[in-house]
Amino acid sequence: MIKFSQSIQQASAFFRRIAGKNKKGRTIPILCFLLLFTFVRPSFAETIAEAPIMVDGQPVKTAYFLQNGHLMVPALFFKNTGASVDWNVQYQSVVVEKNNTIVALYSGKNYADYYTKESGNWVRDNLPTTTTPLSDGTYIPLLYTAQKLGMKVTYNSELSRTFIDTNTPPAEKPIVYYVGDTTEKKIALTFDDGPDSIYTPQILDILLEKGVHATFFVLGQQVKLFPELTKRIVNEGHLIANHTWSHPELPKLTTSQVVQEVESTRSEIAKVTGINSFFFRPPYGSYTAGDIRVLSEHGYRSILWSVDTLDWSGLSAEEILAIVNRDKSPGGIILQHDFQASNGKLDGTVQALPKMIDQLRGEGYQFVTVQNLLDGN
Ligand SMILES: [Zn+2]
Repeated sequence: MIKFSQSIQQASAFFRRIAGKNKKGRTIPILCFLLLFTFVRPSFAETIAEAPIMVDGQPVKTAYFLQNGHLMVPALFFKNTGASVDWNVQYQSVVVEKNNTIVALYSGKNYADYYTKESGNWVRDNLPTTTTPLSDGTYIPLLYTAQKLGMKVTYNSELSRTFIDTNTPPAEKPIVYYVGDTTEKKIALTFDDGPDSIYTPQILDILLEKGVHATFFVLGQQVKLFPELTKRIVNEGHLIANHTWSHPELPKLTTSQVVQEVESTRSEIAKVTGINSFFFRPPYGSYTAGDIRVLSEHGYRSILWSVDTLDWSGLSAEEILAIVNRDKSPGGIILQHDFQASNGKLDGTVQALPKMIDQLRGEGYQFVTVQNLLDGN
């Protein structure tokens, strides 16, 4: 049972509480309340605090506001349900797709069109409220959109929290890898954000000398800048992998933009090395279920890590080694970097690397690429 009317009551109770502190009588607070809603509503809406919404049992922080008693969320929030979210320039509409249903909500309008594969038809619905463009995105009514896409929405008034059951079959739940096979003492070194003319050659020299194969999650824009280094990575037996073109935060992009970032990088790597790599790591480890699902439909496997060296922050070799020593495990994936915009920040990475290799080898670890770690070859 959804009780959004209760939320309006809570909102008006909140204003009554504020108003109650004014001892000059009831007229002024009521006037203030009206003024607030009449003239300042857009900025009021934008300043609403974030709150978590539970999606399949996981909290997802989102901006929101109430409009005519309806919970409004940025359209991109729906990527967290596994949906695709895109913007149609021609129709000025948000297009959300999931569970064989497409919903198109038009900016500034109080109607929407939806399409189900079963019916094969577009049908128009009147909306109980208006799709609202704000500076941080287009806000759409959560309840209407979720229900149209075959999801279940409930509101728990005791917890003041909204729950969404996305109805995603287990087989369609996206997979993200943090570790490989944990039964063997294999471990993977990974280097992100390169190639770069300062650090990548130093790291490659050490790996070559030690006879270690690692995995490089490269940026398309860096591959374009440094094709020879990209070739060197591949020629020396390392696994080349995809880290997007320009290192954006995927949750802030539409589904088409996510695909563009990753596919343009794959084709740049292929142009330079002849290799189509389908290993992918989201920048900042930041992603939505919808991003991983659409990339997996394009053939990509999404790789995170089990050991975060935090080397990008300028840690010393000793600090990096202490973290690796603490968090290493069979099947582990170690996150390091080979490009950092400010000079000197990765000196610790380079200094720690030979010691890390010797130390882990001494403990019986074998260094493999992420591909070997996941597939055994
Ligand atoms: Zn990165």
